[in-house]
Amino acid sequence: MLRQMTSCRLCKRERAPSSTLCKYHLAAKKNIEAGYNLWSEAYGNVTWKEYLQKLGNNAETGQWAKEVAKMLSDESAEQRSEARGTQP
Ligand SMILES: [Zn+2]
Repeated sequence: MLRQMTSCRLCKRERAPSSTLCKYHLAAKKNIEAGYNLWSEAYGNVTWKEYLQKLGNNAETGQWAKEVAKMLSDESAEQRSEARGTQP
């Protein structure tokens, strides 16, 4: 778990300061998060997960953003299964 602590979670580039992502993936993540606010205003009841899936399926989504969207989608799935699996 401790190896590659200084490389981006999604590629081999060096991490941006105080992030687990390189500056390219970090910029894509910020765009995705900002985009979700716009989407939820425009479409109302789009969930975070639905938004990420739409991004991943959109031909206009850039490669960086697609990789980040997949990571975030996997993350939210993990969090949900962890919450479910907390029985002693
Ligand atoms: Zn990266």
